Amino acid sequence: MAVTLEKTTKPLNGNQPRAGVPPPPYLGRSVRIVGPVANVDMNQSPHPKNQRGELGKALFNWYRNTISRDPLTRVSAPNHFADRRHFLTTVINQASKGKVNSKQVPVTDPAAMTRHIKAVARYMGADVVAIAKAHPSFLYAGSRYVQDGTAADEHEHRSPEELVQKFPYIIVTTTAWDYDKLQAHRHFIGDAAYHVSQMKGVLILKALEGYVKELGYTALRGVVTPQAAGVASGVGELGRNGLVINKAFGARIHMPDPIMTDLPLVPDEPVDIGVEDFCKICRKCAVNCPTNSITFGDKVVFNGIEKYKINWLTCYKLRPYTHEHWVSCLSCATVCPFTKPNVWWRSLAVWALSTCPIPARPALVHALKAIDDRFWGVVSQKRVRWLGYDSGIKPGEHACTVAGCTAAHGPDSAKVAGDIGYYAPLKENTNRFVKRGV
Ligand code: SF4
Ligand code: SF4
Repeated sequence: MAVTLEKTTKPLNGNQPRAGVPPPPYLGRSVRIVGPVANVDMNQSPHPKNQRGELGKALFNWYRNTISRDPLTRVSAPNHFADRRHFLTTVINQASKGKVNSKQVPVTDPAAMTRHIKAVARYMGADVVAIAKAHPSFLYAGSRYVQDGTAADEHEHRSPEELVQKFPYIIVTTTAWDYDKLQAHRHFIGDAAYHVSQMKGVLILKALEGYVKELGYTALRGVVTPQAAGVASGVGELGRNGLVINKAFGARIHMPDPIMTDLPLVPDEPVDIGVEDFCKICRKCAVNCPTNSITFGDKVVFNGIEKYKINWLTCYKLRPYTHEHWVSCLSCATVCPFTKPNVWWRSLAVWALSTCPIPARPALVHALKAIDDRFWGVVSQKRVRWLGYDSGIKPGEHACTVAGCTAAHGPDSAKVAGDIGYYAPLKENTNRFVKRGV
C-alpha cells in the first residue's frame, strides 16, 4: 500500500525529538509510529479551539448559546442545557480532586492487582477495561487538559519522559453505547445512546481514580491521549473512521480520559482483530459520512504516525446546521461492520477473521462485507421507536411523538422535518463543507 507523506504543520508544541525517549511502542497492525511524534497540544483540539471562537461564529454560537429542544440532550450533552447544573458530567468533572492516601496498600503481585482493578472497574459499570504501558508519545504537550479548575498539581512541571518513568501504567476503561438506540444515528435517539453512556463512563472513571488514590497511589487524569492508550492496551484497533474498534462492541465505545498511575500493574498487548484487513476493502464509513470527512484513500503519515487521517474540522463544522434534529452524527460508528450486538454470531465472525492467516483475509473480508451489506444495508437507515421518539419521521411530522413530551418543539419544526426527511442531512446536502475547504 502506498503511504503518502502528508505535510504536517510544525510540531504542535514546538518540540523536536528528544534524547532519552524510549523506542516507539508497537501499537498493532492498524497504526504505526514511523517518525518523530510531537506531543499533542490539547489546546489545539476542536473543543478548546471552538471555545476560543477560532472555528467561526456558527460553531461558537451552537456550542455556547443554544438550548436543545430535546430534554434528554439537555441533561446528557455538553452545553445545550437551560441550566448547567442539570448536566451531571460538568458536576463530576469539576469536582475538586482528592488527595492520595498516605497509607499505601503494598502490591506484591502486580498480576493479581491487575485482575482486581479490572474487576472493580467492571463492577462499577465499565464494559471494557485494559492496561497500557505508558510511552512519552502518548502524553499531551504542555499544560494538562484539566477540567476541574485546578491550574496545576505537583507533577505539572514534569516532562512526558519523567511522567512515564514515575507513572508507567495507564488504565483505560470505557462504556459501550446501546446498540439498538445507536441504529438511529443522526437523531436524538442515537444522541442518547452516545451521551448517556458517556455520562456513565465519566462517573466510573472518577470513582476509579478515587479508588486508586485510596489504595495509596497516584491517579493522573488529563495527561494521556485516549486513542493512543486505547490501541496500546488492546482495547481495539484504529479504523478508517478514526475510531478505536473493539472486539466485542465495534466502534460503539467512548475513548475517555484514561488514568495514568504508579499502581503496579501488568500491561496488556495490542490486538489484531482484523480491522486493518477490513478497512482496506470496506470503506462503508466513508460512503456514509455526510461531510466526506473520511478518506477513501490510503493511510498517510501525520505527526510521525501512519494511519487513516480523518478531517475532524469538516466533521465538527456540520453540527450547528443539524441541532434541530440531532447533536452527534455517529454514522461512521453505526455503519461499521464491526459495530454489532455482542452475540455469538458476531464473536464467531471476529474469531474467524482474527485467526485467519493474513494473506487469506481479503477473501474473508469480501464475504463478511457482502453479508453486512445484505442484512444491514450499504447505507444504514433503520427506523427506531423509543420513549415516544421515532427516527423514521415522515414528512411533516415531528420527530418526537410522545404524549406529554416536554421538549420545546418550535412552530417550524414540522416544516423542517418535512423538508429534510430521513437521516438528515443527506450527503449531497453537506458537500458544501468540503467544496469550501472549511
Ligand atoms: S460527519 Fe459523521 S460520519 Fe463523518 S466523520 Fe463525522 S461523525 Fe463520522
Ligand atoms: S466501516 Fe469499514 S472501513 Fe470504516 S472503520 Fe469500519 S471496517 Fe473500517
